[in-house]
Amino acid sequence: MVVLGIESTAHTASVGVVAENAEVLGLASDMYRPPAGGIHPREAANHHVELFPALVERALSSAKVSPREIEAVAFAQGPGLGPCLRTGATVARTLSLLWNRPLVPVNHCVAHIEIARVLSGLDDPVLLYASGGNTQVIAHGSGRYRVLGETLDVGIGNFLDKLWISLGGQFPGGPAIERAALEGVDLLPLPYSVHGMDVAFSGMLTASQVLHSRGASRENLAYSVEVTAYSMLTEITERALAHRKKEAVVLGGGVACNERLRTMVRAMAESRGHTSFAPPKSLCVDNGAMIAWTGLLAWRAGVRIPVAESGVLPRQRTDLVDTPWRSG
Ligand code: AMP
Ligand code: MG
Repeated sequence: MVVLGIESTAHTASVGVVAENAEVLGLASDMYRPPAGGIHPREAANHHVELFPALVERALSSAKVSPREIEAVAFAQGPGLGPCLRTGATVARTLSLLWNRPLVPVNHCVAHIEIARVLSGLDDPVLLYASGGNTQVIAHGSGRYRVLGETLDVGIGNFLDKLWISLGGQFPGGPAIERAALEGVDLLPLPYSVHGMDVAFSGMLTASQVLHSRGASRENLAYSVEVTAYSMLTEITERALAHRKKEAVVLGGGVACNERLRTMVRAMAESRGHTSFAPPKSLCVDNGAMIAWTGLLAWRAGVRIPVAESGVLPRQRTDLVDTPWRSG
């Protein structure tokens, strides 16, 4: 069984070709990088429109798979930026009609979990999903993935990007902050905003900008922001593990590429006698392979959607999606 998956929820246009056991046969991605400032949804969508035909060809040719061998076409239906989602959905509908193959809708957040779950071999982990637009702690229960905690304002990645741009840097801020943080020495006081199972970052953004205007270096700010924000995420992840009696954590999302976050979550998990796993970076960031894999699971469980009903769902929540391929 071979499935092609289309990802286009935000700045990344990506096509993956995946077989049984999440064997990634082909993966072609391209990320929209705004010339200045943050991401503009329509410009990102234009980028995707231009890139998708070549990405489909590259994914198929690197997979050494012909369209005839593709058994279903999966696409990220939501959540994400409307214009970006629509370009990916249009490509998926076109391929589905052209190749006469079923169209399978996939929730982007669920796809981050499923790829991490299969790669780790962990059956029932808690997911810390830390990306540009999303920050959630998720676990499975009663037929769906449940959001146990999340950001009350911006996603952690958007916060890092916004902060770095306001300090004179360029998008994407997360990796640049990671490098700058290695040079930081002083831990500056920043708001630690944990509210039960939820977190918030906008207070830390303002406080960092105020400290910078008073002379704090970018390096010390980067270091302090990483330690503070990643501690907040580690804390709510630990609470989720304890409360739901789960024994493993997986990481997903672009911010999960961060070595400090990986190390902190691993230390927390190991101190409880649990396991932690982060996928390789190419499968942590947004990618078509995770959509194809989740599409394969869903399709095998009978999920498919008629083209006429395949509108995108920019605000689709993780806990609104049934997971018939999972027990429990
Ligand atoms: P995603 O939305 O999952 O594609 O992830 C994109 C986000 O990940 C952007 O906000 C990036 O700044 C952030 N990001 C990527 N690499 C890193 C890193 N090494 N450390 C922190 N954030 C990162
Ligand atoms: Mg993502």
